[in-house]
Amino acid sequence: MQGLGLIVIMFFFGLGTALVARSKGNPVGIWFAVGFFVPLVGLMAALFSRAATDEQRRFCENCGKVLPITDTFCTGCGTDLDFPEEIIPSRRTELRMQRR
Ligand SMILES: [Zn+2]
Repeated sequence: MQGLGLIVIMFFFGLGTALVARSKGNPVGIWFAVGFFVPLVGLMAALFSRAATDEQRRFCENCGKVLPITDTFCTGCGTDLDFPEEIIPSRRTELRMQRR
């Protein structure tokens, strides 16, 4: 039953990777798949990835949805996005400024 053992190990790597991703506010489903199909390397990638809360954000000019600055189209309405005129600081920066 060597194959089953491997799947169990892959499952736990997926689970661990997903938990790391969740603690950073990154999408859990995607990271579970990464950890499952690329054990160890996927977990390392999750550990060293930037937290979603570190990313600068922007508004969609069409529908006003707040998006990561790296997005090239709006996930709310599908509009293609140019470089924004107004950049919203990352959530982490916002929290740091509130504490002062
Ligand atoms: Zn939009």
